Amino acid sequence: MLSCGIVGLPNVGKSTLFNAITQAGAESANYPFCTIDPNVGVVEVPDERLDKLTEMVTPNRTVPTAFEFVDIAGLVRGASKGEGLGNKFLAHIREVDAIVHVVRCFEDENITHVEGKVNPINDIQTINLELILADVESVEKRIERARKNMKGGNKQYAQEVEVLERIKEALYNDQPARSVELTDEEKVLVRDLHLLTVKPVLYAANVSEDGVADADNNPYVQQVKEFAAAEGAEVVPISAKVEAEIAELDGEDKAMFLEELGLQSSGLDRLIQAAYRLLGLYTYFTAGVQEVRAWTIRKGTKAPGAAGVIHSDFERGFIRAEVVSYEDLVAAGSMSAARERGQLRLEGKEYVVQDGDIMHFRFNV
Ligand code: GDP
Repeated sequence: MLSCGIVGLPNVGKSTLFNAITQAGAESANYPFCTIDPNVGVVEVPDERLDKLTEMVTPNRTVPTAFEFVDIAGLVRGASKGEGLGNKFLAHIREVDAIVHVVRCFEDENITHVEGKVNPINDIQTINLELILADVESVEKRIERARKNMKGGNKQYAQEVEVLERIKEALYNDQPARSVELTDEEKVLVRDLHLLTVKPVLYAANVSEDGVADADNNPYVQQVKEFAAAEGAEVVPISAKVEAEIAELDGEDKAMFLEELGLQSSGLDRLIQAAYRLLGLYTYFTAGVQEVRAWTIRKGTKAPGAAGVIHSDFERGFIRAEVVSYEDLVAAGSMSAARERGQLRLEGKEYVVQDGDIMHFRFNV
């Protein structure tokens, strides 16, 4: 299962947010492949299309797709030099697919700020610097090794050095490795370095509970937005404290509480959706009377690979798939109407699954 790591300085609200995530957490029986670990929370991805399909098909159950949030506490200034439990935490970041960086945008004199005062840009740069320094170390080691190997006359190493030098240059200028444009081939060359600053990032601006309805006008949030815009990153304003309270409510109570706060949806839902977008994923659906379900694939996955997400037997024995796009199905009104309209396509092994496809797989067992 794909995962997002939650990072940030101490006392910015990471644990509070993570507790809200686990409270709101998914039915883990539905997700046999999720990690069992106190620092990992599985979240379901809210998706209007899944709700609509459920309305159309009225199945016995509906299962959203899910991914994992990992609480990576303990990142402090000096982590790259082993401060705190530095290296251990950096190793945890290496394993996640994307990063949610929590930034403190709330004032509260009772809660110590590790750097003395609330200053979101400073905080972001402190964390980013640790990640950059850790990457500098990885890149320099690799350059040294590749240079040695180059002496044998192998061209691949020369190319590797060239790419690594470009990344090193960016890192020396305090820029993350993701800011360096790489071709697919170049990406493969550096993939096994598992650089921390290659991972996509979004900022969760943690605002105070009374400022949550007006978060966009919070000057700290505005600073974070400006900073994030420069690197093309998204910002989700959220009040971790409010989310922790919301997570304990359900149904009507939740709706009432949101209305009192002047909010339309929970910040956690918006954060989950933004994180899912950040992971660069597509969702396809299966829709049967037993179960309507959303599944996650990476962009560019072909039909057999998509089938394999359900079960490896589906991939091995794949024959073909019946496919209808979400828009066509909704316009037709039902699966049988879509069939009559000729919108149910038969696709083979080379078909690249699109976001929103409703798939029915035919396979040999
Ligand atoms: P972490 O060290 O980043 O995991 O931070 P915690 O989640 O433990 O939060 C540190 C302290 O800040 C706790 O006492 C929280 O209750 C408090 N806190 C978190 N979010 C908010 C908030 O939005 N407003 C206020 N006033 N306090 C908060």
